[in-house]
Amino acid sequence: MFRVGLTGGIGSGKSAAAECFRELGIHVVDADWAARVVVQPGKPALEKIAQHFGAGILLENGELNRAQLRSLIFEDTEERAWLEGLLHPLIREEILSSLEQSPSQYAILESPLLIESSQYQLVDRICVVDLPENLQVERATARDNNREEQIRKIMAAQLGRQERLDKADDVLDNSAGLAELRGQVELLHQKYLQMAATTKHN
Ligand code: ATP
Repeated sequence: MFRVGLTGGIGSGKSAAAECFRELGIHVVDADWAARVVVQPGKPALEKIAQHFGAGILLENGELNRAQLRSLIFEDTEERAWLEGLLHPLIREEILSSLEQSPSQYAILESPLLIESSQYQLVDRICVVDLPENLQVERATARDNNREEQIRKIMAAQLGRQERLDKADDVLDNSAGLAELRGQVELLHQKYLQMAATTKHN
């Protein structure tokens, strides 16, 4: 299965681009979705997290209290390393199994941290959704009602624009409207269909 990783900074338009690929019938695996699936109630990882941090890390309905977990590991590198050691292999497995079940000619892995994490190893190509940083802030702020300061903090923790572009095989320039984005996705889609037809995976 030919796989393309779709990434970009916060508010760049990954979800919008992923939606365009979906409209063209392409299977999209969302890395954030995979990260939620592995800690659903009943999954062994959730039990291990509850044993490690105490049952207080669970909400009343038995789900993971993500906000609390985030604040617990925010400044504690040891705890964060423990959690990542537990979850990263499981997320990877979840992503791989979903990619393998793809019914379309190729598959997309949408991930905000594709390059920062080892997830880029799961794909054949990297497609970056690119946006000037001021527009990134503008769109992310409008969408989430987030304070600009918070968006900038998240951006600082992500790869810089140029570093991300340096890793790109393909770039979607999302500085214009959604119709322009759709047009660029359609062109890439044709290219990926050809690549998928000629790429042999062992
Ligand atoms: P995040 O990493 O935060 O999940 P994202 O990269 O998935 O963000 P989107 O949610 O797709 O980004 O887009 C951010 C916001 O910008 C959304 O409100 C979306 O509707 C809007 N948007 C995306 N592309 C465009 C565009 N070309 N023109 C105008 N608005 C856009």
